[in-house]
Amino acid sequence: MNQFQYVRPAEVPAAAKAFTKGSNTHFLAGGTNLIDLMKMGVVVPERLVDINHLPLKKIEKTPGGISIGALATNTEVSIHPLIKEGFPLLSLAINAGASPQLRNMATVGGNLMQRTRCPYFFDTTMPCNKRVPGSGCGALAGFNRMHAIFGASDKCIAVNPSDMNVALTALDATVHVTGLKGKRAIKFADFHRLPGEHPELDNTLQKGELITSVDIPASPYNKNVHYLKVRDRTSYAFALVSAGVALNIENNTIQGARLAMGGVAHKPWRLTETEAFLKGKPVSLDVFKQASQIAMQGARAYEYNKFKLKLAPNTILQALTTAAGLKA
Ligand code: SF4
Repeated sequence: MNQFQYVRPAEVPAAAKAFTKGSNTHFLAGGTNLIDLMKMGVVVPERLVDINHLPLKKIEKTPGGISIGALATNTEVSIHPLIKEGFPLLSLAINAGASPQLRNMATVGGNLMQRTRCPYFFDTTMPCNKRVPGSGCGALAGFNRMHAIFGASDKCIAVNPSDMNVALTALDATVHVTGLKGKRAIKFADFHRLPGEHPELDNTLQKGELITSVDIPASPYNKNVHYLKVRDRTSYAFALVSAGVALNIENNTIQGARLAMGGVAHKPWRLTETEAFLKGKPVSLDVFKQASQIAMQGARAYEYNKFKLKLAPNTILQALTTAAGLKA
């Protein structure tokens, strides 16, 4: 492993300042992704800014909903009574990810920053525009079974691997960050980006900006929810396709819907048109079948992931019916 500097600030402004020193600096939180990338030579930092001693672990009620500190672990979030009661979709999504050991270490901020699991990104002998801009994309003509069916570009067809991100997108979360220029709030839907011409950029953070918390607004989406993750084995595997569904149902009518998919795009894929279609509709299998087809508008597969064109609508249909208490 290459040598690197290691600093451990105790306050957020000091962490933001420490980040700007050196051209290849990384924040270190749980380390469940970064350390793997360092071991494989995918990330070769000059400096690590260990943020584990910053006061960013609180999970607390706010006037508008809930605030989750960026250093709260996945486990702490998933078992917290306020989350389980008010935002059960988030709890379900987190528990579908990784393993208990990893969830005990991984943090909310780190989960947002998690890099893609594209095998060509991890293999430093292969071309990858995300790892080395301009080197090409090994997955485009390679074994692209795990890759995107929405929003890809000819520069990158990778997917965001996080389950937590799917729920946070559906629940309209906001990401709070601090940098040398001050604080700002980023809508969750605008935090991650599509690859376009610059797949090396996963998100819209500016250099040195540190995630401090994630806020979720209070909502009626806490009863009819389901997170369905389809994967090659039943634990410790990334999603081929996942669907996060939260419905607000009154008198058998859908008052509102929140839907997002994972494993299908470079960012968690919010299904706003499907949500608009569902609003005001009765709870029925036929409505859910139509919704699952609307969700697929614009989908495009590659040589080895064509199965996702069928798997994705089936996953949405199953998640909707389970959330609503129907049988598919
Ligand atoms: Fe790299 Fe993206 Fe291509 Fe994978 S899909 S090889 S991450 S450029």
